[in-house]
Amino acid sequence: MVDMAITKVKTPGTLPDVDKLGFGQYFTDHMFVMDYATGKGWHSPRIVPYEQFELSPAAMVLHYGQAIFEGMKAFRTEDGRINLFRAKDNFRRLNRSAELVCIPQMDEKVLHDALIQLIETDKRWVPGKVGTSLYIRPFAIATDPFVGVKVSDTYKLFFILSPVGAYYAAGFNPVNIKVEDKYVRAVKGGLGEAKTAANYAASLKAQIEAKKEGFAQVLWLDAVERKYIEEVGTMNILFKIKGEIVTPALNGSILHGITRDSVLQLARDWGVKVTERRIAIDEVFEAHAKGELEEVFGSGTAAVISPVGELSWKGQKIVINNNKTGPFAQKMFDHVAGIQYGKIQDKFGWVETIAKV
Ligand SMILES: *Cc1c(COP(=O)(O)O)cnc(C)c1O
Repeated sequence: MVDMAITKVKTPGTLPDVDKLGFGQYFTDHMFVMDYATGKGWHSPRIVPYEQFELSPAAMVLHYGQAIFEGMKAFRTEDGRINLFRAKDNFRRLNRSAELVCIPQMDEKVLHDALIQLIETDKRWVPGKVGTSLYIRPFAIATDPFVGVKVSDTYKLFFILSPVGAYYAAGFNPVNIKVEDKYVRAVKGGLGEAKTAANYAASLKAQIEAKKEGFAQVLWLDAVERKYIEEVGTMNILFKIKGEIVTPALNGSILHGITRDSVLQLARDWGVKVTERRIAIDEVFEAHAKGELEEVFGSGTAAVISPVGELSWKGQKIVINNNKTGPFAQKMFDHVAGIQYGKIQDKFGWVETIAKV
């Protein structure tokens, strides 16, 4: 384990009502922090009370967006263990995002150890109700007080923890999605593969316009031809066409989703044909016209699986599986959640039991 100072809160916080957790609005008592300076490297790992911190108004992250983040979850099992899901893969991706925006590489073993110690410190905050979990948000920011454009020489890394509610407390609810034909999210050679602030800033205007038009989310098309499917706001997208799972290949402009990877590995393990390739939006509409489009769903850490009930593109709407959750999406959701909560055997080594409550 990494040797680090732990400063505990004087008065532990009151736990929120498990029925009103929602997403990302409550934070636990402590956070993990580590600093970086050129010449010194990453240093001073520590667990401290969750609190506000000082930053220069000139801090580079505020001006040029040199920022990266991750999102993953820990789960409390029925018998009181805490399971962490694929954290090592998230830390690998954090370093990949870091590389793309010139943030110095971090020691993934240190990050992993630090996370386990932080969760151990705040384990009473891991909610136990079915479907709830502890959302983990690592992030790193550039802190040089300097308003010229350059790569920063100082950074801060944080892990903050948030107990979150069941995404599907009221059952699966397929979403209606707008296929975006005006705005674009990312282009190959850009930052699309990084979990970095800029990508989300770039997505807000399209998202707001789609909401006004009555859609829950947008589905992005490629930025060059506006033809090939990319991904949804914070989810990858998968199609079931004539029994086959088809999803966009990792082409340089979409995020390498860890849930996407879990879904593909499980589908292959079940003997389902899986293809990662380019998919044109016309192809999806044609498959629907021929009665071959069986299911559409998103994949991401927050929801695991999010069924898509309707897709609209340039004013044409298709309804998928009668706007009902398909059997494959349901089975996949149940299986991934079953592994996370320790109810289904984890033959892929995705889960680590890190503490007992
Ligand atoms: C985080 C994210 C995803 C999903 O990744 P997971 O690792 O499955 O949570 C997909 N697309 C974007 C743009 C994301 O930010």
